[in-house]
Amino acid sequence: MILYSTKNRNEKATFTEAVIQGLPKSGGLFMPESFPIMSDNFFKNAHTKSFTELSYILASKLLEGEIEPNALAQIVKKAFDFEIPLKQIDSNTHVLELFHGPTLAFKDIGARFMSGILSYIGNKKEQKRVVLAATSGDTGSAVANGFLNAPGVIVVLLYPSGKVSKIQEQQLTTLGSNIIALEVQGTFDHCQKIVKEAFANNNLSQKLNLTSANSINIARLLPQSFYYHYAYSRLIKNGSNKDVVFSVPSGNLGNLTGGLIAKKMGLPVNKFIAAVNLNRVVPHYLETGQFIPTPSIQTVSNAMDVGNPSNFERVMEIVDNNHSKAAEVLFSRSYSNEETIETIKKVKQNNNYLLDPHGAVGYLAIQDYMKIDQKKSSFILLETAHPAKFGNIIDQASLELPEMPERLKRCLNKEKKSILISPDKSDFKDFLYSISE
Ligand SMILES: *Cc1c(COP(=O)(O)O)cnc(C)c1O
Repeated sequence: MILYSTKNRNEKATFTEAVIQGLPKSGGLFMPESFPIMSDNFFKNAHTKSFTELSYILASKLLEGEIEPNALAQIVKKAFDFEIPLKQIDSNTHVLELFHGPTLAFKDIGARFMSGILSYIGNKKEQKRVVLAATSGDTGSAVANGFLNAPGVIVVLLYPSGKVSKIQEQQLTTLGSNIIALEVQGTFDHCQKIVKEAFANNNLSQKLNLTSANSINIARLLPQSFYYHYAYSRLIKNGSNKDVVFSVPSGNLGNLTGGLIAKKMGLPVNKFIAAVNLNRVVPHYLETGQFIPTPSIQTVSNAMDVGNPSNFERVMEIVDNNHSKAAEVLFSRSYSNEETIETIKKVKQNNNYLLDPHGAVGYLAIQDYMKIDQKKSSFILLETAHPAKFGNIIDQASLELPEMPERLKRCLNKEKKSILISPDKSDFKDFLYSISE
């Protein structure tokens, strides 16, 4: 796989280089020059394969010649050792539960795959490295879990103080070992900016072997295309021959980009819904053709509180930087906190299914898309987090709290350990140099 920078087509990288570097030197993001198209046979037989088997076939095709086949099989098997059920909740809507990993959010999928890839590369090179991730809630814990006790790796997480839920904070700050949590006195956008600046600093970046584990890293992005193939194949197996539309609760658009990659590889999906909360940069772009980053707004679906979605550039590359092509493949709507909470309540009452606040936003967007849908499509809602992580919001919907999974209970009883820093970049630089010694 050869990748280029979205800011400079002449800056190229191999997959390994792109994984390690995270971001291209010219700015922008790494993007594969082309995607393999899967064969008719692959699509015909997909429903007979397990998620791990499908993932291995797709990963082998994408990473041909990059990773030794046996090692890749091991990486896939180890990363995806949990189930991803597809559950029908009404006559034309299924929910793909992506939250059965260790941190109860979909980011486990990308983070665990990336951790496997990076360990494989690291073993070959025998280098120490620092993995950096800014998190609005779930990224950090997924990354940290993926890399916990990985030899030669220190993980530094930055999260906005007071802007993640209590449970998310516990998940970020209680792992210990090679995981350091920095509590930034600012917003998620500050965290993301600090990380970007650290990478832009060549000196620092080389000294520490900095690697990004945000959704911008290509090794996290690629596996997020696998479950689209999987869900689609399961739906077809269930006898549906309708058009399939995926609804994706969106923030940085990494999950959505995964869907667009699956389509590039031949998955016959014509429409993706980018469901957003009050952070409405994407629907605004689709309506007006203007992409206007804004400061992020805090909402009840806080993992989507993003004012400047980092994968927007990749989405635009896939649609040839053409607004009308973007509008053809994407539908996007924004929803308030009240609508989100009301929906959690309604879906529980009517469908006996408990959505989390992110999934609820995705569900709302499906209802709006149905109103204009001529094709009477089947819908797959990507449920990105376990509702038990959002007890306070479930409570606001006046619903009974769900049973808390054991792994979540355990981390709630541990002691929080974090380092408070200001959003000033020099603070962070000093910190990084201090751990390099
Ligand atoms: C990160 C996250 C999202 C948003 O995903 P993006 O890839 O950033 O668009 C949605 N829901 C949950 C629970 C998340 O953790």
